[in-house]
Amino acid sequence: MGIKVERVAEPELKVKPDEQALGFGVHFTDHMLVMSYREGEGWHEPVIKKYGDFSLDPAAMALHYGQAIFEGLKAYRGKDDRIFLFRPADNLHRMNDSATRMCMPKIPVDEVLAAMEKLLDIERDWVPGAAGASLYIRPTMIASEAALGVRPAKEYLFFIILSPVGAYYPGGFSPVKIYVTDNYVRAVKGGVGNVKTAGNYAASIMAALEAQEKGYTQVLWLDAIERKYIEEIGTSNIFFMINGELVTPALSGSILPGITRDSVIKLARAWDIKVTERPVAIDEVIAALEDGSLQEIFASGTAAAISPVGALNYKGKEYPVNSERTGPLAQRLFDELQGIQFGDRQDHFGWRVSLD
Ligand SMILES: *Cc1c(COP(=O)(O)O)cnc(C)c1O
Repeated sequence: MGIKVERVAEPELKVKPDEQALGFGVHFTDHMLVMSYREGEGWHEPVIKKYGDFSLDPAAMALHYGQAIFEGLKAYRGKDDRIFLFRPADNLHRMNDSATRMCMPKIPVDEVLAAMEKLLDIERDWVPGAAGASLYIRPTMIASEAALGVRPAKEYLFFIILSPVGAYYPGGFSPVKIYVTDNYVRAVKGGVGNVKTAGNYAASIMAALEAQEKGYTQVLWLDAIERKYIEEIGTSNIFFMINGELVTPALSGSILPGITRDSVIKLARAWDIKVTERPVAIDEVIAALEDGSLQEIFASGTAAAISPVGALNYKGKEYPVNSERTGPLAQRLFDELQGIQFGDRQDHFGWRVSLD
């Protein structure tokens, strides 16, 4: 599969935003990658072209029945202006797991990765150099066939758009307050919670809004059946340091298998920290907070890498975590992950991919 490139003419290029005030997901680069699929023909040659609107039929099936999946990863600018990616093939393989669950066609991982790298090479001036900033990469697939009726579509669009984003913690690491909801659930075993499909996020918005109205940054989700076992925080995975052991909910089928989560587990094990994946009950966490054995809670995900939790609200009571300070393990993991991602630390696991 070749890659067709239609470059935007120099005078038509956008003015780049102020790197000190990027925010998240508000600016988009000059080019995007687009590839279409038709049953019987497969994927067509990908095209890199000017970022802009699609023309979609109002009956496009993604708009009605939600066959829509996406990924999220970042490109980082390191020393000597080298550009790095972090485990990008894992994101594309996970996209294929999402495609399988949603009855959508798989993408050819090697070719798409090569096309993504080509797009990044064209847009390399868009990878910010400000401390902690990066270029967010959003591969997406939607059902584009115009037809009503619930069944797998026969036509799809795959695209990659790029957005320069600021450091998640511009003022340095600061622990967030989390609201444990036992009113709403995110996903149920047998459902689609273990894949990155659009509807999961639509379903989560109301709980997040209610948590924010109460003064909390994010929601901690419990399992849908018993409302007893911890699943995730917002759109990130969760870890607990209890009595020197790192504990995280096992991938039960309703939890998104985060690439950052996997990286945390592997780093911690390499540092001789005991890591256990198992069901974690909210009552166990509250008891450990009360008896002092719970040392740290943090979340893991591409957006923030590591996000320390400073307090939990459960059933109307607020429990401080580690006196609302960032714990030593969260700090160490954050420094190590960012160090690998920006090319400042040794990459023992072979996670970093250099564009050059
Ligand atoms: C994307 C996502 C994560 C984190 O995955 P990473 O690969 O670490 O970025 C966790 N939970 C949910 C629900 C997600 O959508």
